[in-house]
Amino acid sequence: MERGLYIHIPFCARKCPYCDFFSSPDMSLKEEYVRAAKRNVHAVKDRISSVYFGGGTPSLLLPEHFADILSAADIRSGAEISAEANPGTADEKYLSDIKAAGINRISFGIQSFDDKELKALGRIHSAEEAASALHSAKKAGFENISADLMIGIPFQTKNSLKKSLEAAVSLPVTHISAYMLKIEKGTPLSENDSLLRHIPDDDETADMYLEAVNFLAENGFEQYEISNFARKGYECIHNLGYWRCEEYHGIGPSAHGFVDGERFRCDDTVKEFTERPIQGRTFIEKGGSKGERAMLSLRLTKEGIPADMFERLEQRAEILIRKGLMKKENGMLKLTPEGCLVSNEIIIFCGILD
Ligand code: SF4
Repeated sequence: MERGLYIHIPFCARKCPYCDFFSSPDMSLKEEYVRAAKRNVHAVKDRISSVYFGGGTPSLLLPEHFADILSAADIRSGAEISAEANPGTADEKYLSDIKAAGINRISFGIQSFDDKELKALGRIHSAEEAASALHSAKKAGFENISADLMIGIPFQTKNSLKKSLEAAVSLPVTHISAYMLKIEKGTPLSENDSLLRHIPDDDETADMYLEAVNFLAENGFEQYEISNFARKGYECIHNLGYWRCEEYHGIGPSAHGFVDGERFRCDDTVKEFTERPIQGRTFIEKGGSKGERAMLSLRLTKEGIPADMFERLEQRAEILIRKGLMKKENGMLKLTPEGCLVSNEIIIFCGILD
């Protein structure tokens, strides 16, 4: 059987104040972590259809670390192998070396091309360094280059977002993820009133999202998921697997997996992960129900879900279409950009999870 493979790298040069991902600047167990990741990858008996190194900051690994971990996997020839990278930790030589180690898709956490916004987010890179990292990736031979941008961040205006989008599409980028900032409870940002005051309100953020969708479409980046846009043929194959409810392995603390119909999570600490022969596995729930499949594929704005998948969906579709929140094409119901803004409400309205 073929399945995807996610590998979590829980190290960051510095913790960003808005982030609640499992990551830390403590890299004392990095070598042990790579060995444990390799051990766990080796224990996967499936052929691997795609690999994704996420984090954290995978670009804090050495090129030989990637090669070592990948050598333990049986990867389908030509498979997409992605790594997330911080523009502040990746120069051309490094990028060229990780490409030689097997990475063929690179995803940079750019977030903004405005230095004031980057500073408010606590990022370690500047707008200039972000542009330079994207050029370096191209020079290093990457064809498949993604940039993450954020919407609704402190000090952002429609104008500054437009400038960030203009910068992104003018650089060698084939894929853009545009996420709305979520203020996660317990993060330093959630308690920083002087920054929270400068966050655009929900209506402004929604307008910015709609403008971003339009701008990206006009510039050759077709929306294929609520937050994801790609030039033709550059959709992220690994992430498409999640939304299509395909199974995958998840390795490393906080990583989720979906294998043999069960969803699970690794709750190990970094130390436990490095010491255990095989990572811990906490069962979450059975996966792959009709409701779950519908909820995930509803995110896929190009593919959509069969209009007759649920009785109530079929009954209520007309209302949603009239309101401009959905459209119907060849029997498939798809969210419009306006619908993407209220996807959770649509799921409830249509009884998809009942
Ligand atoms: S670099 Fe990414 S994973 Fe690391 S702290 Fe910042 S946002 Fe979180």
